[in-house]
Amino acid sequence: MKDKILVTGGAGFIGSHLVDSLLKDGHSVLVIDNFDSYYDRTIKQNNIKEHVGSPGYQLIEADIRDRVSIDRIFNTWRPDVVIHLAAKAGVRPSIEDPLMYVEVNLLGTINVLDASVKYAVSRFIFASSSSVYGLNDKVPFSENDALLQVASPYGATKAAGEALCRSYSHCFQLPVTALRFFTVYGPRQRPDLAIHKFAAKIRNDEPIPLFGDGSTSRDYTYIDDIISGIRKAIDWNHKGYEAFNLGNDHPTTLLRLVQLLETALNKQAIIEWQPLQTGDVPQTWANVQKAHDFLGYNPSTDLETGICKFVEWMH
Ligand code: NAD
Repeated sequence: MKDKILVTGGAGFIGSHLVDSLLKDGHSVLVIDNFDSYYDRTIKQNNIKEHVGSPGYQLIEADIRDRVSIDRIFNTWRPDVVIHLAAKAGVRPSIEDPLMYVEVNLLGTINVLDASVKYAVSRFIFASSSSVYGLNDKVPFSENDALLQVASPYGATKAAGEALCRSYSHCFQLPVTALRFFTVYGPRQRPDLAIHKFAAKIRNDEPIPLFGDGSTSRDYTYIDDIISGIRKAIDWNHKGYEAFNLGNDHPTTLLRLVQLLETALNKQAIIEWQPLQTGDVPQTWANVQKAHDFLGYNPSTDLETGICKFVEWMH
């Protein structure tokens, strides 16, 4: 029997790709998503249009902050594995509305954790983020580094979410794997993220805002590599708590990113220089050795190839 897998946030960017992959392998998948208004609902409906009606797929439009509904859904469906991706994502908006981030990313997470303990799920996977490292200046970032320099309320909710998960694993013997995603991109990428936003503007001959002097760098990670990392974490049988970086181990500066987009789009970008923004960090860079050793994670898409695939999807 294949595992019954519950995916929170399964209508979003990463979640919808994960559901593609799980359905393809014959899993029963239940998605909980509230079609949060952070970006357009029609984009999410489009993400899941191939899923709706597939055998083994079920979607419940519910909010993870609604404790009673979450309990009822678990009681009825009884998942084996929970992949908790639903969250308020995005660094800058978390500075505008930190309370909302705490409500969704922490209260919502507690509800999903409590139901996972109550209904004895065998594995819980938590979507964490490179943002937990914040202003860490030791590169590449490794899982042993102390998470003491978070630079945004978003990063704080992810670090606190990991701490909650660790405590649930310790107190209630829930097996938890936290996956720290590093700037994920590819088809269906969230429209607020740099690659998507820049590509759309360059294509339309609109100026792109570049914050800082272009030297900030990110470890951009292609969606297929992230999905393969999540799938390996699902298949990894363990007790206790473990956190892993899912990155690409190849940081790229903002200016280099723009050059790659210009090449892929065959257009020149119009750059509008802006001061660095509060909450942004100078760099991210994943050490992926631990994920490789424990999970067999092996990212294989370089940024040039991934950007071409993204641009192809966008056209
Ligand atoms: P996304 O916004 O596309 O997906 C998140 C989904 O969660 C959305 O479909 C949204 O409707 C849903 N959601 C939000 N609030 C909810 C609520 N209260 N109840 C139920 N559903 C709710 O974002 P994504 O980029 O796919 O990110 C998925 C996860 O990965 C998030 O936890 C995010 O913090 C994390 N992450 C993403 C990246 C990245 O680069 N995309 C990097 C690090 C971590």
